Amino acid sequence: MQPLALHGGPPVRSSLLPYAHQSVSEEDIAAVNAVLRSDWWTTGPKVPEFEQAFAAVTQSKEAVAVSNGTAALHVALYGAGITTGDEVIVPPMTFAATANAAVFLGAKPVFADCDAETLLLDPRTVEARITPKTKAIIAVDYAGQPCDYAALRTIAKKHSLILVADACHALGGTGEGQPVGSLADISTFSFHPVKPLATGEGGMVTTNEARFAERMRRFRNHCMTTDHRERQEKGSWFYEVTELGYNYRLTDIQCALGLSQLKRVPAWTKRRQEIAKQYDAALKEMAAAKPLQVRKNVEHAYHLYVIQLELERLSADRNEVFRALRAENIGVNVHYVPVHLHPYYRQTFGTKSGLCPVAERAYERIISLPMFAGMTDRDVQDVVEALRKILAHYAVKL
Ligand SMILES: *Cc1c(COP(=O)(O)O)cnc(C)c1O
Repeated sequence: MQPLALHGGPPVRSSLLPYAHQSVSEEDIAAVNAVLRSDWWTTGPKVPEFEQAFAAVTQSKEAVAVSNGTAALHVALYGAGITTGDEVIVPPMTFAATANAAVFLGAKPVFADCDAETLLLDPRTVEARITPKTKAIIAVDYAGQPCDYAALRTIAKKHSLILVADACHALGGTGEGQPVGSLADISTFSFHPVKPLATGEGGMVTTNEARFAERMRRFRNHCMTTDHRERQEKGSWFYEVTELGYNYRLTDIQCALGLSQLKRVPAWTKRRQEIAKQYDAALKEMAAAKPLQVRKNVEHAYHLYVIQLELERLSADRNEVFRALRAENIGVNVHYVPVHLHPYYRQTFGTKSGLCPVAERAYERIISLPMFAGMTDRDVQDVVEALRKILAHYAVKL
């Protein structure tokens, strides 16, 4: 056996394969150029054009473009009427922004644990966390797999809660035949370059509720009573600020890029699913690592491909396997540090280990393998070869 690159052997790859990377076409570049030559760099015609195209793709009545995925969550919870003293149920296995959004509005994030095999919010744990103060549930489509929205909807209905999908990973996926973006009362998306569609920074909120969309549009524009187009149409300069709002607008430059990218999402999703199949097949031969389970009746969008290490079969921990993969030039990552374990949450909300034991156990075992539409089959083989080499090196006989 070749020595590991971590121990001075030759790496599987000579250059780093990142865990995610955007795709860009000449058409994307031309679309951006056209906006740069136009009068409208922001609040122009590309914004509603992108919103309408996005609403169509996600089979939603309304789509509201915002400046990033974190803003999308803030706008979504404001739209839902979340305010000081409310509680919002969130999963621990997510990016901190999911829970932070509740805090932005003076609400308290309450953590409910995830399922051990999918790492999706476990509907059975949600009900136990509901109190008279609970106003909303945020489910995260972790790794790109839609959550069990049928079960979550039932709970939300029973307790009159608003169901929000943090779908930042899952654009292009479906649940029970319906597109992501239409599976909850409100859904949020991010267009960061690692995400399924990229505009540099960017985000979107979708909903079927006109009253939510109306609140969200005002909130992204300082809660002003009129926007500048309405003022221009009326030949008036007058507006009033009715509540505290923000500038969360997405520019026309970004919307043009998003519109152009949106057309390619189905092909990219297909490519991600092909890569996942290759990983699945390879992992069948490796006893010390397994993929996350995929639920029935979903199309997984595979923003991430996450494996769980069988630590009982290894003489190394996750951190060492991680370092060994990086040394082979495989750009692995870890998603995520459970949110309730971050110092800010421990200090502010008194959360600690033991609160979400399933997520905490998983955190010790997970690694995200490289996954993006532009990966070649050769790239996938490199990842598999490195993983095989490393797991064989650290294998213990049971
Ligand atoms: C990326 C991401 C966000 C935040 O999106 P930004 O565009 O980076 O602000 C929120 N939630 C999840 C699950 C994400 O992956």
